[in-house]
Amino acid sequence: MVIKKLKGDGRVRKHSCVKNMSLKVVKFGGSSLADAGQMKKAADIIKADPNRRYVVPSAPGKRFSEDTKVTDLLYKCYELADKGENFSDVLSEIHSRYREIISGLEMDFSIDEDIKTIEENFKKRFGSNYAASRGEYLNGKVLAAYLGFPFVDAADVIFFCADGSLNKEKTAEALRNTLADKEYAVIPGFYGCGADGYVKTFSRGGSDVTGSIVAGAVKASLYENWTDVSGFLVADPRIVKDPESIKTITYTELRELSYMGASVLHEDAIFPVRSAGIPINIKNTNDPSAPGTMIVPDSHEEEISAYTITGIAGKKNFSAINLHKDMMNSQIGFCRDVLDVLAENGICIEHMPSSIDSMTVIIDNAHIKGNYDEILTQIRKRVNPDDMYVEDGIALVAVVGRGMCRTRGVAARIFAALAHARINAKMIDQGSSELNVIIGVNEEDFEQAIRCIYDIFVTAAKD
Ligand code: ASP
Repeated sequence: MVIKKLKGDGRVRKHSCVKNMSLKVVKFGGSSLADAGQMKKAADIIKADPNRRYVVPSAPGKRFSEDTKVTDLLYKCYELADKGENFSDVLSEIHSRYREIISGLEMDFSIDEDIKTIEENFKKRFGSNYAASRGEYLNGKVLAAYLGFPFVDAADVIFFCADGSLNKEKTAEALRNTLADKEYAVIPGFYGCGADGYVKTFSRGGSDVTGSIVAGAVKASLYENWTDVSGFLVADPRIVKDPESIKTITYTELRELSYMGASVLHEDAIFPVRSAGIPINIKNTNDPSAPGTMIVPDSHEEEISAYTITGIAGKKNFSAINLHKDMMNSQIGFCRDVLDVLAENGICIEHMPSSIDSMTVIIDNAHIKGNYDEILTQIRKRVNPDDMYVEDGIALVAVVGRGMCRTRGVAARIFAALAHARINAKMIDQGSSELNVIIGVNEEDFEQAIRCIYDIFVTAAKD
């Protein structure tokens, strides 16, 4: 069989950028900057490598599990301000978080003036985006002073369009111009300037995105993302005991795993570096010598996991709408009509396995919001099926790996493992890229399904 490979317009895609061979952009997450001790660790990491030139900090995160992130305190504080209530207690709690960091680092530095400005702007109702962004803004100022690096306000270099998407061209140009004469700089994460001139934030965890945008704009050789874990794990450690870590994963594999619930990096952080072919290294601030996980371009052929699969992830809370109609396959437009009803109701579909006379649509319950009766009535009106019913309580498990397409018997091993564990696979979907296999199981079988697939590919390979 001859397979023609066309990408987009059919032309071979080339990375348009010449990378700046040694420049690294480093982003530190909230837990890596939660207190003076963590901030010092981050600074030591930055200073240990002169190529770590542009630093993107988050706001101080949790110092212990019951702690509150500064970003959450800021949201809370602004909520009070917006209602016209007294917010001074929460604001001074925020102020003390920074004061503790500053004194713990033995710095001669004050953010008192900034706190005053924030208080005034809260009273003027600058909005919750502005409020939330101040966590990164203040942390950026403190870190810049501690490192002796210039501070670049993200509102001067990251720009959004009126529809809320990133204004890529304007942002890239501003970043390049501003950083051209700065060998080192600290650029706070999470926010930029909206089309209306007011501060606008990305969604939660968005400092990952800022780091990626900066790395893409300056054509970094590497984007290091420092967090509190040594990279991605093959499976969720709450389900599989001490899972192996993933050494190398491609952008696409990561997208598949993230979509199915594996979270370390913000979903949107892939795109700005992906187009420039810049790898991301997830590293642990508390264990800097650990190699972490390398996220590499899809063309990367080396270092395919010894386990054939790269990772397993999954999510609960899906439903299946099962439709049956004799001669369905010859009724032109049947599937389209069903999908139209879902689209008109703003519901996206996850998977759609079908046979000659039946089709199933798998839907995330979060999208349907309990509105099944109405949706079924509309489908019935539109396509008049012989039978139709909803099956609730479905979990999806994704087995992802670029090694799967070149290995015979992967599906057989997955289903043998499930059969052994007496788990019924209710749905099977293999993407055309052969990069992933998605299996639908009953929610009660979810954890066990992940464990037995992990065992057959990883535990068994180690024995
Ligand atoms: N501080 C923000 C949050 O808590 C953004 C970030 O940490 O990336 O979501």
